[in-house]
Amino acid sequence: MLMNDFESTTACKNSMHKISDYLTRRICETLMQHNSEGLMLTDATSQIVLVNDAFCKITGYSKDEAIGKTPALLRSTHHATDFYQKMWSAITSNGQWQGLIWNRRKDCSIYQQWLKVTAIYNEDKQITHYLALFQDLSKLQLHDTQTKKIMLTDSLTKLGNRELLISRFSQLLAQCALMNLHLDVIWVDGSQLAQVNQQHGLKIGDLLIKAHAKRLAKLTSSDQTLVRLYADDFVLLSVSSHNNNAIEAQLQYILNAMRQPYIIEDISVSVIPAIGVARFPQDGSTEEQLLQAAETAMLEAKKQGGNKVTFYNKEQGVACQRRNQIRQLLQYQLTHKGSGVELTLHFQPKVVMRTGKLYSAEALIRWHSSELGVISPVEFIPIAEESRVIIQLDRWVITELCKTLQYLKNANLLNFTTAFNVSSKQLIEADFVKWLSACLDEYGICASTLEMEVTESAFIHEPVQALACLAELKKLGIKIALDDFGTGYSSLEYLKVMPLDTVKIDRSVLFDITSNDKARSIVKNLKRLASDLNLEMVVEGVETKEQHELLERLGCDYAQGYYYHTPLALSEFLALINGNIKH
Ligand code: C2E
Ligand code: CA
Ligand code: CA
Repeated sequence: MLMNDFESTTACKNSMHKISDYLTRRICETLMQHNSEGLMLTDATSQIVLVNDAFCKITGYSKDEAIGKTPALLRSTHHATDFYQKMWSAITSNGQWQGLIWNRRKDCSIYQQWLKVTAIYNEDKQITHYLALFQDLSKLQLHDTQTKKIMLTDSLTKLGNRELLISRFSQLLAQCALMNLHLDVIWVDGSQLAQVNQQHGLKIGDLLIKAHAKRLAKLTSSDQTLVRLYADDFVLLSVSSHNNNAIEAQLQYILNAMRQPYIIEDISVSVIPAIGVARFPQDGSTEEQLLQAAETAMLEAKKQGGNKVTFYNKEQGVACQRRNQIRQLLQYQLTHKGSGVELTLHFQPKVVMRTGKLYSAEALIRWHSSELGVISPVEFIPIAEESRVIIQLDRWVITELCKTLQYLKNANLLNFTTAFNVSSKQLIEADFVKWLSACLDEYGICASTLEMEVTESAFIHEPVQALACLAELKKLGIKIALDDFGTGYSSLEYLKVMPLDTVKIDRSVLFDITSNDKARSIVKNLKRLASDLNLEMVVEGVETKEQHELLERLGCDYAQGYYYHTPLALSEFLALINGNIKH
């Protein structure tokens, strides 16, 4: 395969430093032009920058016709838009996607190809290019049984592959529907592969997958279809009449067998298997629905600690489907759409309690999805935090904020500080400070006008890295606020070790402040503590006049909440600060 050749060429180059740049370039050019796989390289904005001869032969487009266009040039109308969204979502989160896809040639004929897209990153972990390699399947002589067998076999385990799954699935579904049979779709996950790869290397990881495959194959019968989907995830298709017990007993066997330690090259490796089952017809009627349901059930088994078989539950499925959809749509918006289309920033003023004057504003993200309607950050931020989507999201917010601040600065309207939120994950990104500093430079924003709000969760998992990041940001001149204080553990230790400027008291602390002496005493003493530590204290979520008056009496100076202002769209915010400045 061209890809392997490329990888080994790069590996040789790195390890030996013996091959000259010229020779390396010549080898790459030769590999590229004399390969039967089509090759297309795009930049990060999806503009085609390079294609090879096979690309031109397969698609019918010349190099000149292709370069400068986007891959949409090849799109057929065969797939729904969510197909492409899922594909981009996989590429952005895993760096890679491969699968079958229908494309259109220049002469408008439609053909099926096996496509592999790989993201190429620079040293700062930013995507710079996408490399697509594809094989034209219509050219393969599928009548040739040998070729057919190779196409349907997973080269590592010699079990069936995803291709076989797709072709068997539709046959079995048709058969089950016709004969009133049940089809069990069983997703078996080994769970430990990433850890094994990390600890013992890819070779042991591969041997583990092979050993898994062997055990599974032994425990399945010849009328069942067993394939490796990817990594250590296997799918088993099993047709049954109405008797569920038989499959349950078999799955218990599989579970027991898989949890016995594997001895691989004298290393003992234990795995925690998780098995999910979905059934036709009750859990879905298409391959996609059933596979998704089986995966959901498997993830549920994993969530409960693994070592178990879980059957698909519709409610969990609906919730999981929504989470997946939100993650994919959000990622699509962040990667492919410009600002202001679905995602926008709102600004919630923070005020001086005594005068009601705005002295700062917090940027809060808003999402009006064309498919799902308005979605609250309370719902989508935790979903983004389950993956690297949150890294993109936080950076999108910061970039948008900088653009707005540049505009305000040029219009002489910027006489207040602004705050943005970041997730704990952002603080342990090695390049965050460098990225942020470049962003401020690009828009000419002075770091001292910005405040970053973080919660203490940032310090639970990687405290050393997170603190180092805060120290660097502080050096840059950015102010740091501890958000949501008074929820969770609210350890006083954080007030001691973090380089803070501000502490924001969570609105849950205020909830019964007008009726509860103890709540009042807590706020009064928090204020005293903040003053002693030389910290500014902002009370969040002030909703009523009573709360406002009481907080002022308790010595609070700064506040934020619906009583003063709700988060405002940019136009409303501009109207407010225009008015503010005139006064
Ligand atoms: P947060 O940082 O604590 O933001 C304050 C939340 O409280 C906002 O909700 C705001 O609309 C709401 N709020 C403000 N005043 C009041 C009030 O008087 N009463 C009540 N009931 N609520 C009030 P929102 O915008 O829905 O955001 C929820 C959370 O989502 C935020 O909590 C923050 O954790 C996260 N979030 C929002 N935008 C971003 C963002 O751009 N990046 C990141 N990483 N997280 C964000
Ligand atoms: Ca906040
Ligand atoms: Ca808060």
